[in-house]
Amino acid sequence: MQKIEQGFFIRTDQGEFQTRKLLIATGLKEELPEITGVVEHYGKSIFYCPYCDGWELRDRPLIVVSDQPGIYHFAKLLYNWSRDLMVCTNGKSVLTEEEKQELNAKNILVSEQMVQSFNGIDGQLEEVKFIDGTRIKRTGGFIIPKWFPQLDFLKSINYKKNDKTAVLTDAMGKSTIPGLFAAGEATTGGPTQLIVAAASGSVVATSINLELTEEQFYFK
Ligand SMILES: Cc1cc2nc3c(=O)[nH]c(=O)nc-3n(C[C@H](O)[C@H](O)[C@H](O)COP(=O)(O)OP(=O)(O)OC[C@H]3O[C@@H](n4cnc5c(N)ncnc54)[C@H](O)[C@@H]3O)c2cc1C
Repeated sequence: MQKIEQGFFIRTDQGEFQTRKLLIATGLKEELPEITGVVEHYGKSIFYCPYCDGWELRDRPLIVVSDQPGIYHFAKLLYNWSRDLMVCTNGKSVLTEEEKQELNAKNILVSEQMVQSFNGIDGQLEEVKFIDGTRIKRTGGFIIPKWFPQLDFLKSINYKKNDKTAVLTDAMGKSTIPGLFAAGEATTGGPTQLIVAAASGSVVATSINLELTEEQFYFK
């Protein structure tokens, strides 16, 4: 990918292209916890977003596994969907004593053990096995992945990033480089939802079309 006078030069595995405007919509890549079985269950019975998948997993025996302090807040979100809940910090001490007491008072199970594996069939979780060999029956789970924008291919272009290392844009999707636009999670650096990303794409498409229209109208 290169900035050229007329716009951008792009080399892909499907050929080379030259374009006046470029829209980056490469979303995010998530890093999942290193737990056996997580990949097989992710997106089927283990998710990251209670707003997206809480309804489908409602009233089931659930587990949330994360070694990040955000797990306490996450537990409160999941408590809206199921009262049969285990909070597991996967070998780390990220909950305060007060938080543990609050969770216990709601009959939410708390474990600081490391998870060895998520076990199930065809991506449908049946049990969680801990490193000490104990197991608990769970049919749904949540994890908190780490998220990264996928922007390595833009390295040669000196655009500005925001504090989440995503593309910094204005409300119309314009980056700090003329002609370079971005939409969706490539601009947030953190997870959103389909409708949010799609709405962003719609706004930015309009913005690109406006620029092209203006440039073409006066083109001699
Ligand atoms: C397991 C899971 C469940 C979800 N459930 C829901 C849900 O129920 N409801 C909801 O609203 N949202 C849900 N989401 C979130 C939703 O998927 C995202 O918010 C949305 O897809 C973000 O859109 P985007 O266009 O920004 O990025 P994406 O949809 O991630 O699109 C980016 C695209 O760019 C491609 N790409 C990346 N790098 C390159 C490259 N170098 N060259 C070419 N192509 C590239 C990727 O392959 C991908 O196709 C879920 C997400 C996950 C992971």
